[in-house]
Amino acid sequence: MACSTPNHTQVVSGWAAHDSSGVIKPYVFPRRENGVDDVTIKVLYCGICHTDLHFARNDWGITMYPVVPGHEITGVVTKVGANVTGFKVGDKVGVGCLAASCLSCEFCASGQENYCDQAQLTYNGVFWDGSFTYGGYSEMMVADHRYVVHIPDNLPMDSAAPLLCAGITVFSPLKDQGMVYTPGKKIGIVGLGGLGHVAVKFGKAFGHHVTIISTSPSKEKEAKERLGADHFIVSSNPDQMKSYRRKLDLIIDTVSAPHSLGPILELLNVNGTLVSVGAPDKPLELPSFPLIFGKRSVKGSIYGGMNEMQEMMDLCGKMNITCDVEVVRTDDINVAMERLARNDVRYRFVIDVAGNKSKL
Ligand SMILES: [Zn+2]
Ligand SMILES: [Zn+2]
Repeated sequence: MACSTPNHTQVVSGWAAHDSSGVIKPYVFPRRENGVDDVTIKVLYCGICHTDLHFARNDWGITMYPVVPGHEITGVVTKVGANVTGFKVGDKVGVGCLAASCLSCEFCASGQENYCDQAQLTYNGVFWDGSFTYGGYSEMMVADHRYVVHIPDNLPMDSAAPLLCAGITVFSPLKDQGMVYTPGKKIGIVGLGGLGHVAVKFGKAFGHHVTIISTSPSKEKEAKERLGADHFIVSSNPDQMKSYRRKLDLIIDTVSAPHSLGPILELLNVNGTLVSVGAPDKPLELPSFPLIFGKRSVKGSIYGGMNEMQEMMDLCGKMNITCDVEVVRTDDINVAMERLARNDVRYRFVIDVAGNKSKL
């Protein structure tokens, strides 16, 4: 189903899944010429998000093969269109989950493009010209400048890459709840993976007391000693859960496996909020008693708007926040994806795209 849009004349080398085996193989495909609103980016690094795995394997039944995954992309601008004033050749930039939105609805007008009804994803989406979008597992990208952010000079391009999805996904609820510039709250993070570990870093950098709620007692030492978490609760331990009842102001639940929200909600103080950012493929169990007896709220959140993304990047630059990554060569994408499927990663794989040593 390769696209045949007329101005897609640039030939790009990348890596794609071609069927539901999810195996990633080299793939040469067309991209559009750099338009007046576009920037062309030489891709340096691309994070491997759990979403990439789901799309590669068609877990959600919506994959358009061949799919070139990748929405945690960092690189350098090599070309800018006539209408682009915010970027110049040589700039360090990032592209996240969004490739396009309608630009005119109330959400686009208020910096919440991520909630635009016509938002199109960086891969497995359909761009304005009708072409399929291809992601960052590729040597070059053409992106509309409105969906590109600057990466602060002091941030390494490999460990900054996962900020573009994992980072913004946990930053946005913190911002939404007024917890970026108001310190001193008590925050709970459910799950200590790609998202959870950045959430701990943000929580501490923004001056909060951070509690990890995890099924893995083995993660306590690292959570506290290396990531700086203040408290650790093993969710399967009823005594630990009970001892922290009504202690938290906000919980960010990053877990993507089906689970009950009931025991977790009990940790929230009256009026507290739980924000779900994981995407379990089955409904979450939501008993009503913990909701009504604590006037608690449960809401969702998906990545973030573009202004918010730049704000996050600038803060990360100032506070030196990056992700903990394992950098892999393009030859090793499949090995990394298999390990990711087993949650065997601390905490995010990032592909060294420009290393370009693929022998796949
Ligand atoms: Zn992602
Ligand atoms: Zn819109």
